[in-house]
Amino acid sequence: MKSINPFAYARAGRIFEENLPLNSMERLAPMLHDTQGQIIVSLYFDTDAEGQAYCSGNIKTTLILACQRCMDALEYQVDINVRLGLVRTEQQVAQLAKKYEPVLITKDEISLFQLVEDELVLVLPAYAKHDKNQCTGQTSHLEFESKKNNPFAILTKLKK
Ligand SMILES: [Zn+2]
Repeated sequence: MKSINPFAYARAGRIFEENLPLNSMERLAPMLHDTQGQIIVSLYFDTDAEGQAYCSGNIKTTLILACQRCMDALEYQVDINVRLGLVRTEQQVAQLAKKYEPVLITKDEISLFQLVEDELVLVLPAYAKHDKNQCTGQTSHLEFESKKNNPFAILTKLKK
């Protein structure tokens, strides 16, 4: 885990460019159908004219998710431009310029892995599915059937 002091990075104008393996993401990995592949991370830390420390850049990867209809692999392209305002208190969050997404930092050091992982978890679709013409699954049809059958199931129960 690469831990850094983001404020020191911002003061120094440091750049973090690295490829991180997807299988090193402890929270994200269990949500994936396959953990092969890399996350291409390119972030730079700096301080803007107002003295606000920020982290800006790009996180790019292809996540292999399981389609919720056919359970086969589904490629999900991720290309996130981040512009994070680094703040220490809730008050600073409230005062942060709108162009930044606040990241509240309460410790001296943060894990860059975790920062990247947080961004990826945020963009994960809750219910990933292939386009209909690329999907072999029939779940949506089954869903319709089971909904239609539900009232009858209840009736059968009542009769007993
Ligand atoms: Zn599918």
